[in-house]
Amino acid sequence: MELELQPIELEGVSKERPVVIAGPCSAETEEQVMSTATQLANKGVKIFRAGIWKPRTKPGGFEGIGVEGLAWLKNVKKETGMYVATEVATAKHVYECLKAGIDILWIGARTSANPFAVQEIADALKGVDIPVLVKNPVNPDLELWIGALERINAAGLKRLAAIHRGFSSYDKKIYRNLPQWHIPIELRRRIPALPILCDPSHIGGKRELIAPLCQQAMDLGFDGLIIESHCNPDSAWSDASQQVTPDVLDYILNLLVIRKEHQTTESLHELRQQIDECDNTLMEILAKRMRICREIGTFKKEHNMTVLQTGRYNEILDKRGAQGSLCGMDPEFVKTVFEAIHEESVRQQLEIINK
Ligand code: PEP
Ligand code: MN
Repeated sequence: MELELQPIELEGVSKERPVVIAGPCSAETEEQVMSTATQLANKGVKIFRAGIWKPRTKPGGFEGIGVEGLAWLKNVKKETGMYVATEVATAKHVYECLKAGIDILWIGARTSANPFAVQEIADALKGVDIPVLVKNPVNPDLELWIGALERINAAGLKRLAAIHRGFSSYDKKIYRNLPQWHIPIELRRRIPALPILCDPSHIGGKRELIAPLCQQAMDLGFDGLIIESHCNPDSAWSDASQQVTPDVLDYILNLLVIRKEHQTTESLHELRQQIDECDNTLMEILAKRMRICREIGTFKKEHNMTVLQTGRYNEILDKRGAQGSLCGMDPEFVKTVFEAIHEESVRQQLEIINK
């Protein structure tokens, strides 16, 4: 399904990259909301975020202030003139937000992963024209992410954007949620008109990572940033370690280098032609390698040998990994490439053997 999109365009919000949405993970108290919002507005932030209903991994944590907090967001609008945004996960959330005049809704990562929940939200939004931001699902599934956008779009909502917030993994090392940048990059390729925002707070999970993640998102041509900011981060009721004060946020934003997306200078054009040539050569060599593999397959068939010869496979991975390091490449990367090539070689040999 092709998405039918319209630009979000909010009066008073610059179209320059990046559009910035900032505010606390959760609305906790009226004072915390108002104090954070006022400080952010003073720094020029135009769109305020705050979670009213919080999807927590385990019961017993702070699950959000609920409907009461919507009145605080209304107040933020009135006092600061900022647009206000919050997360919806059920039809009831949608009705409450519409009633309270919330300007922008977002669908959280756990909800995007559930087509029933997304459909329920889409049905509740039918006939309403409000910007909706769809976070990537917790699992690295681009189709599921696009599917969620399609459901909302099919309900008639055209002012959509995607939020890249990273993907869960069992091994948590540097990041709370792995960025897997190739997924939002592929989303951009598939739906060029869809704005993509980056959420460095939930990707990084820690304050130190916000600045580098924001810069990376800008270097990749993302349209905006949604960043958690709290007037007193250390005492936040949720996601304390990843929130920054409005002052720190302002400092981070001011240091960002925003490069132009289209800088097709002559030399860049030439370099791209060289890349195309390299890719063509790579494809030719791959095709040649596959042909030799098929010949080996015929040999193995004639001599009744197994397709998978583990000793040979390990030798290739080790050799190529070592060659990769000599050329300044990460041996793990080289290993991944050769694993993929090997997988396809085995598939082609199996075709020959089973003929
Ligand atoms: C949030 O934005 O506060 C949130 C809960 O994020 P996510 O859905 O990305 O986990
Ligand atoms: Mn959060």
